[in-house]
Amino acid sequence: MRGLWPAVWVWVLGAGLVGCRESRVTLPPPRPVPPNVQLLYPVDEVYGQYTYPDAQLVGEGVVLTVEGRAYGWDRIEVLVDGRVVAVTRPGENVLGPMDLSRRIMEDYVNFRVDVRDFGTPGRKVLVLRAWNGDLSRDSPFEVVHDDLALDRKARAFANLYWQGWCVPPGSPPPSGPPAARPGSFRMVDRTIYFINRDYPELQADVLIAKWTGLRFIPVRDSAPFPFIDLVKNPGGGPRGGPTNTVGFAILSGRIWIPDRLIEYPRWIRVGNLVHEIFHALGLTGGNEGAFSCGHPKDGSRMDISGPRYLWFHGYQQRAAHLVYSHPPGTIF
Ligand SMILES: [Zn+2]
Repeated sequence: MRGLWPAVWVWVLGAGLVGCRESRVTLPPPRPVPPNVQLLYPVDEVYGQYTYPDAQLVGEGVVLTVEGRAYGWDRIEVLVDGRVVAVTRPGENVLGPMDLSRRIMEDYVNFRVDVRDFGTPGRKVLVLRAWNGDLSRDSPFEVVHDDLALDRKARAFANLYWQGWCVPPGSPPPSGPPAARPGSFRMVDRTIYFINRDYPELQADVLIAKWTGLRFIPVRDSAPFPFIDLVKNPGGGPRGGPTNTVGFAILSGRIWIPDRLIEYPRWIRVGNLVHEIFHALGLTGGNEGAFSCGHPKDGSRMDISGPRYLWFHGYQQRAAHLVYSHPPGTIF
């Protein structure tokens, strides 16, 4: 203790000599600043552009999850036609940090806010307003609220990616038994059991229910039809698809998830389950032979060609609603 005295003495003396004694007792508090915001979806502000074609196309029954990260915020609102239609706070509705440029963004906190009300139709500017106390910063972004365009895009999506056989527009459809001609594959019921002993906490079924209107009943062991079960796949990669079909009706599906998935960030783990569950629900992928359309290249969770996020675009949601409100085998 004694050894500290000379240093303190010198400091007080020094402060007195330069006449700034007051500054050490009346330091002003740090000035509050409006939050910094980076949007990731539906516009990628990191690169200053719309990265995902038609991701901003919205309409009736669509959930637009506006996603990004912000620094120094306590509330985020989305305004449509000048009205607040959605609010989120730190820690709500998040799936952990998106691992895009985590090293330089680690002070930023992710947000996800669901918008279901898009107001009047047309091309319009929505406002994301981030608050820090009573200071706010606006990040406007565009959406296209057009139900007809959404429907057209959804039908094309369903016809290209929700069938056992992909028939590009303009080409004659193959004929033959159900498995060899076009028609949408879907579960026999809109209520589906999800047998998931291993990753119940990831709640991928909750996300899919939000996007599709389907109802999932999580169970641990066996279940009646229709069901999807999750099987650990220690050796291989993740995959999924129907396991039992009658015509175009799916009675059961299965997803295989590798053990090493547990090492990945939460949003990647959830995303893998989402991707494979959609295959089990009839959305096709890469292994359907010569007529395959493969995976869509649209920046959604079903896209395997580029960075894959958790997103399931508005027209994909509408396609799911279409497929699951029409009999198995429908062409749209
Ligand atoms: Zn796939």
